[in-house]
Amino acid sequence: MDHDVFKDLVPSYLENLTSKETNKQMEEHMKQCADCREYLKGMQEDLLIERNDEHRKEKKNIDYLKKVRSKNRKKIFTVVMSLLIIFIIICIGSYFLFAHMWIADENDVRTTIQRQDNIITLSFQTKHDNRYLLTMENSENSYTNEIIIYEKWNDFSEAASLFKDGSEVTYTFLDKNTLLLNNGEQRKLTDEDVVHIRYKDNTEKIPLKDLYNATNNN
Ligand SMILES: [Zn+2]
Repeated sequence: MDHDVFKDLVPSYLENLTSKETNKQMEEHMKQCADCREYLKGMQEDLLIERNDEHRKEKKNIDYLKKVRSKNRKKIFTVVMSLLIIFIIICIGSYFLFAHMWIADENDVRTTIQRQDNIITLSFQTKHDNRYLLTMENSENSYTNEIIIYEKWNDFSEAASLFKDGSEVTYTFLDKNTLLLNNGEQRKLTDEDVVHIRYKDNTEKIPLKDLYNATNNN
């Protein structure tokens, strides 16, 4: 085989495109010709470097794609987390603003007892501009014997506007010792008939018998 033909065949040989017969002849030639041997070796190395480069490029591309993907994932995660945190803050905020109420401190409440004919009205007002009071009434023997005073932040709800001027509880007396009950019956008052007004740290007890005459403010 002639050197030029050998060199022409080398690229095909390295790609395994040459026939068995040709390979045989080329290997024969290489045994005798150091120059062609070196040439093949050089081509082989070039090819190896080229392939390595391609491989590296591919890897770079893949790495780049991975980076982009993980960046996107991080972005989505950040957005989702931010939305979640905002949502939680809004929930907690609106709970404390609109739903949360607490038993009022006695010092924050202005209590007024008013009498109009036979109707005694107990009114409770907060001393703070940004709050309002709600009363929870518990009845026993058909009259309110316990009042729990709750305080709430002032908001724009209907309750807030309704109770802005205070919350009231009324008692109707027939005379100073007789209470007209919710069910229409009459009750002769004894010393046992007491209204409990519950505040945060204290419970005020007012005998119903005293209520009729206690039309003073405190
Ligand atoms: Zn040769």
